[in-house]
Amino acid sequence: MDTSNLYYGDEEQTEEGKYEVEFTNSCTCTKTDEETGEELLDERGNPIAEEYCTDYCWETGIENVEWLLQTWLGKQNIGGQVYDLHIGGGGIGWQRREGYTIAKSTAQGVLDKLGIGGDYILRFTLQGEELSVRRSSHDEPTGTGKLVFRLATDEEIELWENR
Ligand SMILES: [Zn+2]
Repeated sequence: MDTSNLYYGDEEQTEEGKYEVEFTNSCTCTKTDEETGEELLDERGNPIAEEYCTDYCWETGIENVEWLLQTWLGKQNIGGQVYDLHIGGGGIGWQRREGYTIAKSTAQGVLDKLGIGGDYILRFTLQGEELSVRRSSHDEPTGTGKLVFRLATDEEIELWENR
């Protein structure tokens, strides 16, 4: 995939009806001109990493995930409320197992469940009605399988709470 115009952490419409958001827990803050607010570039035209995290990268990332999540919920005419989501699929962890989680339908709720201790990248894709994510991490160097989002059933929520 050509990622030259895919801004790190920002949602991007890569083809008709398809949106991608990349979220990482490692700092992606870059230096900006204090007066103009424009991103500073090195001699090769690449952004320059900030020495200290300003939390800007994290906040922007959360906003992007929230945007995608709410867009997906809106497509199903069920925005404006917090739901329990079932997020499941295969290729999870070094054993590449099948698995799922139940998460609240907010960016923070989803990141609480999909985030792990070490560095990770979550690549969300909204295509048509389908929202999915793949996680890359130390144990998942080639990424997990496609983990698909849907509303959890009452039975799944009860099972999850009593697991
Ligand atoms: Zn940062």
